[in-house]
Order: sequence, then structure tokens, then C-alpha cells
Amino acid sequence: MWEILVTEAVHEAGLKILSSDPEVNLTQRLGMSRKELLEAVKNVHAMVTRSGTPLDREVLAAGENLKVVARAGVGVDNIDLPEASRRGIVVINAPTGNTLAATEHTFAVMLSVCRKLPQAYQSLIDGRWERKRFTGIQLSGKTLLVVGLGRIGGRVASRAKAFGMTVYAYDPYVSSRRAEDLGVRLMPDLAGALVLADVVTLHTPMTEETTLMIDEKMLRACKKGAILINCARGRLVDEKACVEALREGRLAGAGFDVFSSEPPEDNPLFAEDLRERVVLTPHIGANTREAQSAVSEIAASNLLAALKGEPYEHAVNLPFMEHRLSPPKRLFLSLSRKVGAFAASILDGAPERMTLRMKGDLFEDEGILCFENPYRYSAFTVAALKGVLEVHHGPETSYMAAPLLAKERGFRVEEGKGSSSTYRNVIELELAGERKTIQVIATVTEEGRHRIVNVGGYWIDCVPEGNLIVFQNHDRPGVIGKVGSLLGELNINIANFALGRKNGSGLALGVLQVDSEVDCVVLERLRSVADLLWAESVRLEEGL
Ligand code: NAD
Repeated sequence: MWEILVTEAVHEAGLKILSSDPEVNLTQRLGMSRKELLEAVKNVHAMVTRSGTPLDREVLAAGENLKVVARAGVGVDNIDLPEASRRGIVVINAPTGNTLAATEHTFAVMLSVCRKLPQAYQSLIDGRWERKRFTGIQLSGKTLLVVGLGRIGGRVASRAKAFGMTVYAYDPYVSSRRAEDLGVRLMPDLAGALVLADVVTLHTPMTEETTLMIDEKMLRACKKGAILINCARGRLVDEKACVEALREGRLAGAGFDVFSSEPPEDNPLFAEDLRERVVLTPHIGANTREAQSAVSEIAASNLLAALKGEPYEHAVNLPFMEHRLSPPKRLFLSLSRKVGAFAASILDGAPERMTLRMKGDLFEDEGILCFENPYRYSAFTVAALKGVLEVHHGPETSYMAAPLLAKERGFRVEEGKGSSSTYRNVIELELAGERKTIQVIATVTEEGRHRIVNVGGYWIDCVPEGNLIVFQNHDRPGVIGKVGSLLGELNINIANFALGRKNGSGLALGVLQVDSEVDCVVLERLRSVADLLWAESVRLEEGL
């Protein structure tokens, strides 16, 4: 019998799937204290949770028989994924169940802002009959900018067209083919697109690049009187700058379902003087009966399949592969993901083609070990692909979905094998975009440490961990000094420094490991002060 524990309220559709299985003993215990949770996980094989159950290192360790954790929803912030992977616990989420709910909520918020519905309702129940005060604007004939043309953004775009809107999209990581299919004009840059839009709606995941993407500068680029809708993630928008734009009339209105911290505390969007122009909802984009039912069904059926060793979808981590790999191969697996993320972070634009070559004796039998992989790629290729995709789709991009996502986006993936010369075993990644091709060679040292040893033909010795700044410069005296002084001035501590030169090129490539995150303002200053050809930041989280 499989012992399955449900720790939060999930829709009955999923519970039914679990309880009707003759091999399952289902227990539902809500609102447990930490002590009770540590006790309750002891003998269970699988758990169903939402965002309120902290599955940290201690809880996962207490679950000695735990094999699968299913999150009835998308975010897995409450689960220690690296620890789950180390323990061979599969973590599953249900990213597709709430797409329509979030799409429709976007329109609920957008129409509420345009027609001032909450304010009109409040006025009416306060005993007033104010028709003039609630003169709104119509969507028909307006221009909508969809930022992030993925699952939700794509659906918002097609529905906006039914409202008679002209739809533009900004998403550097989708093909023009997808935009064409949706009848949407793809814009090459965000500021240029914002100038044109009457309504802007955000549908990107939260990544390093999208954090605060709608900042003061972008808000100043907006068409005067535009409306901003955010039903994606709170930290995409600089809320303070947004409030200033509302007060100065640069934005006519705003609708938010998500906030920089939730529940919101001292959030400037709640200011009294903005109530006429702002509509706020408490992160209820996914809260429809249908979405909750779909999400719990997806979580329950994949959980059962994973327990029974049948094919399943939406694994967020990769323990099924890790477990079949020898310890040295596991090190190359996490290295592949890091190298993918490294290359995608410095690519500058959407990846169009990736080739992963596995070189050395370690990979001789590659292809046989991963015969259970539902995709034709090796585990290392899938891991590199996840690394590439999570830069733009967030860490929730699953290993299972990565090959499909790549295919959907027309992103070509190739893999190869060969012998290695300088190092015993290496992986070589080539990632090509429209403007650049990045080549990275990486290895694992005898002591089991990850190293990037070559970037674009420059031999270096770089530890792929934490926050990195990668740059290229003219190979002449003084450049490195300027980089060091500027970072010192900005109080950014350098932990490690690798520099490589290519004979006769007159150029050098540097990788700095620093102790704190580096934003685009710092990069811009570095580029100009030290006269760098380019500089990009890379953030490498611990392997999932
Ligand atoms: P998705 O992965 O299908 O699509 C995201 C799109 O954003 C992709 O096409 C990607 O290429 C694009 N993107 C990535 N970086 C970008 C950038 N810098 N600029 C422009 N585009 C970029 O995701 P989805 O399922 O459509 O979800 C979109 C967002 O909605 C996520 O943030 C998700 O967390 C959020 N969401 C919110 C609710 C809610 O309750 N309010 C419910 C569901 C989803």
C-alpha cells in the first residue's frame, strides 16, 4: 500500500483520484504544527501540498520513505529542491492547470480598471447614484502590449483581439512564428513597445532579468495615460515608481493581483489618494473552481504515476535520472545545468540552437544508462537545456518540460560524443542566438569540483558558482584595475578572478566571482568606465 499524506486543502477532484486507487491509503491532515508534521511524514511514501507546508531539509529528512511530493499549484518556493533531489524525492507541480483562470482574471482586472467597477460598486452601496463619475474607457480600438507571450500571455493576446484590440507583444524568447500564429506583432525592445501601448499587461515569470523590469525608466517610456496590469509576479514592477507614475498622471490606472511581498505590508499601491485609479486583488488569479480542480487532478495523477514507476509529467527536479548515474556522472549532470544557465545568461537574446558534446571515457556508454528517459536526449543534454531555459522561464522550468519547451519554441538541440585531450572528461556546450554564439567547455576536477575551463576559445579557470560577471575587453594595461576599483567603490567584493587571452586576438575574456548580486546599472557602469566590449551578469543557484 502507498501511504499518501495531504497537508493542505486541495480540490476534491484530486483527492478522489487518490482515494479510489486500491493501492493507496490516503490521510488528510490540515493545519499541523511543525512537530506534528515531522512526525506525520515519517511513514509516508508521497505528499500533496500547496504553498503552506514547509518541506525543508529537516522535514524531508524525517520522511524516510518519501518518494514523491506533489505541489497542487505552480510555485515550489516552500520545497528545498536540491535536498529533495539528493534524497531521490521527485517533486511535481501543476503549471498548466491555472492558465485559463489567470488569463480570465487578467481581463477581470483590466476591465475593472477601465470601467472602475470596484469604485462604482462601493459608491452604489454607499447610497450614491454617480453615473458621470464612472465614465470609463473601452478596450475596443486600443493597443495592448503583452509582455511575455507564453501560456497565459498567448491566451490574453487572442482574447484581446476578440475585444477589438490591436495586440503587440514583447518577448525576446519566442519565435516570430508564434507571434504570427497569434496574429500579434512582436516588438524588438520593451521601451519601444511601451510607447505604443494604451494597456500593458505582464505575463513573464520572475527571473533575474524580469525582476523590476517595469522600473522608473520603463514607466517613463509608457504612453501618457496608459494602464498597467500585473497578474504575473509582484516583483516584476517597481511599485514605488508605479505609484509616482500614477500620481503624475503618466499612468491613468493600474491593476495588480500580485505584490512585491504577500500579504502586502506598507505597500504604496494601497495609498488613499490612488483608490480611484487602482484595482487590487489578493493574488486570486488561479482561484477558480475549474483551475483548482485541474491543478489537483494533475498533481494527483502524476503523483500516482511517479509512485508506480509509470510515465509522468511536470517533475521539477531530476532525481529519477540522478539515481541511475554514477557519482562522477552526477557531478557532470549538475555541471551541465550550470553551463546551460551560464551560456544563456551571456548570450544576449533568444537561444536558437544548442549542441552539447560529451567528451571522454566517462561518457562512453552514454545512451544506455538513460534508457528510461522519455526523451531521446541524454540526461546531460536535458540538464543543459533546463539551465538554458530557466534563465528566461524561471527555476520552475521542469526537466520533463525542457525538451518540449525547446521544441515548441523552434529551438534546435543536438548532442554528440567524442574523445577529450586536455582534460580527462569534459562537456562542451555551444549555444547560438541571432547575434552571438557562445561556446563553453567545462570539467570536473579530480577533487570533484566544477570548473569552466574555456569560454569562446579563451582558456580560463572559473568556478561556476554564485554571482559572476563575464566580460570581454581589449587586452591592454589598466582595464582590470578599473574594473576592480569600480567594484570596490560600489562595495562589491571580488571572490575570484579568471582571465583568459587568445593569442594574437588583442582581446581578453574575464570572469569575476563576486559576493553580491550585480544589476544592469553596475554592468553599464563597468562597460563604460573600463571600456569593456561587453559585460553580462550570471547567477548560478545550487544545482536542483
Ligand atoms: P510561461 O512560462 O508559459 O510564459 C512566460 C513567457 O515569458 C515566456 O514566453 C517567456 O519567453 C517570457 N519571458 C521570459 N523572460 C522575458 C523577458 N525578459 N521579457 C519578456 N518576456 C519574457 O508562463 P505562464 O504560465 O504564462 O505564466 C506567466 C506568469 O503568470 C508567471 O509569472 C506565473 O507565475 C504567473 N501566474 C500568476 C497567477 C496568479 O495567480 N496571478 C496564476 C498563474 C500564473
